[in-house]
Amino acid sequence: MAWFRKEKKPRLPRPERLEIPADAWEKCEACGHTDIREKFVRNLNVCPSCDYHRRIRASDYLQILFDEGLYEETEVDLRSADPLGFPEYPQRLKKAVTTAGDADAIVTASGSLGGMPVNVGAMDFAFMGGSMGSVVGEKIARLGERSLERKHPLVLVSASGGARMQEGVLSLMQMAKASAMLSMLNERRIPYISILTNPTTGGVSASYAMLGDAILAEPGAVIGFAGPRVIKQTIGQDLPEGFQTAEFLLDHGMLDSVVHRRELKRTVGQLLRHMTGKPAATGWASP
Ligand SMILES: [Zn+2]
Repeated sequence: MAWFRKEKKPRLPRPERLEIPADAWEKCEACGHTDIREKFVRNLNVCPSCDYHRRIRASDYLQILFDEGLYEETEVDLRSADPLGFPEYPQRLKKAVTTAGDADAIVTASGSLGGMPVNVGAMDFAFMGGSMGSVVGEKIARLGERSLERKHPLVLVSASGGARMQEGVLSLMQMAKASAMLSMLNERRIPYISILTNPTTGGVSASYAMLGDAILAEPGAVIGFAGPRVIKQTIGQDLPEGFQTAEFLLDHGMLDSVVHRRELKRTVGQLLRHMTGKPAATGWASP
């Protein structure tokens, strides 16, 4: 009998190597930083390395802005017609509905933000480049009417390539319709905050996006009416660096503030408290 005996431990099965599936990785479009998707999502899709604000969906903005991410969507049944019989427009719409959902290029909703009842509309670039057709204009007008009736502030998040060419002049008319509604809000002293995201261009920038009582933009967002190439050709001059970015526009007095996505809700909440005569929320410090 041996004095000691080496106890044999039962052999454990080798732990399976945990591998992250290839499609769980995402790459920042600006700096090339690669990280797992969850990390981007947790950071509100702002690159943890370079702070680039990646494009997010309308529903993401509603989640960010509304308390507990809860809201009631309004005007869910509005659909675009094909008033001009534009070639392939019905097919393109169908495709957009399949890829981006049936809300057209804007989702409108009611809920509360910082405990205040608000109406928020968020554009969706994934739906035909966030183009403004008659559905977008009508949904904004109806959301504005809701704000008028209930005296609740209005917030619009813009992301758009401009008017929807497939609806011709009908889509241009939405600029006037939305602007007329905003002037009624103005007369009744109901606050309207406009948030510009990347990109906010064309007819949208020439109407409701630039008519906010306060106009905020996300860092690095491209904001302008015509593209830089067209402007360069028209004026025959080189354009300054950073032309048509949120920061450039802030420097030139076109915006009130450039706000990090993380600070968006807090900033909007604080502005609305100020505009509606409520005391400032506690714990506020400017970033
Ligand atoms: Zn980056």
